[in-house]
Amino acid sequence: MKPAIRIGIDLGGTKIEIIALDHEGHTLIRERVDTPRDDYRATIAAIRQLVLDAEASLNTTGTVGIGTPGAISPATGLLKNSNSVCLNGKPLLQDLRLSLKREVRIANDANCFALSEATDGAASGSEVVLGVIIGTGTGAGIVVREHVLTGPDAIAGEWGHNPLPWPELDELPGSDCYCGRQGCIETWLSGPGMARDHLHVTGNKMTTHDIVLRAEAGDPACDATLRRYERRLARGLAHVINVLDPDVIVLGGGMGNIERLYAHVPMLWGDWVFSDQVRTRLLPPAHGDSSGVRGAAWLWGR
Ligand SMILES: [Zn+2]
Repeated sequence: MKPAIRIGIDLGGTKIEIIALDHEGHTLIRERVDTPRDDYRATIAAIRQLVLDAEASLNTTGTVGIGTPGAISPATGLLKNSNSVCLNGKPLLQDLRLSLKREVRIANDANCFALSEATDGAASGSEVVLGVIIGTGTGAGIVVREHVLTGPDAIAGEWGHNPLPWPELDELPGSDCYCGRQGCIETWLSGPGMARDHLHVTGNKMTTHDIVLRAEAGDPACDATLRRYERRLARGLAHVINVLDPDVIVLGGGMGNIERLYAHVPMLWGDWVFSDQVRTRLLPPAHGDSSGVRGAAWLWGR
């Protein structure tokens, strides 16, 4: 029998969030607790308790999907690159299965974001969806017909550590990236990347939030920073469009809140897309900050 509800868990470094959805996507329960500090066993126990409490209060059982930063090996369920370092190298998937006495699905938070927006969000009804998170870092996930494309190495869509394509002379070699290379897309398109570019060009240290506000108020230097950012984002996305040709690209993360990107970037990216027309649409997320936890719930489909 098909379980009555879909439970999603967003496992972050500071908070664990749970959501229970019905098959239409209505929220039945939503709650957050602090993530136990540096304690793997306590984290597993906290997730178990959240799931059991939700099921008890709804008087039913559900499927469980987990979204978390980092990459999860499809073969082993071992987590790597998580910012919750106590989870790295742990058999998170197996331990959750044992603890919850059922199958559990797990995915990277960018994949969950893409799945949420593809299932019942901004890209609902689209066949191929690229979900891009641009915030403190850059990540992305690909969803095809409401299924996350994982890949044998669980890196499908991860373009943040490719080099910025079609670089201009003053963009070379680019800043050092924590991954060991220089000029990665992440070093340009993350929030810190925009702030660093603004500092480098103008000598003024400002937050991205202030740069955007000042640009809106007509400050020419801040507007120019946003224009450079838009050209870089257009090139970064054109590169992906040439490979994937998605129906929709949805931008999440803090930088996805910059409204002008949705009008400006599609006017630019045609210069680099190998096509006489670009029908790919660039859209803001419908579920905003809820997309991670909703996508985790949709790992079991609608
Ligand atoms: Zn890198």
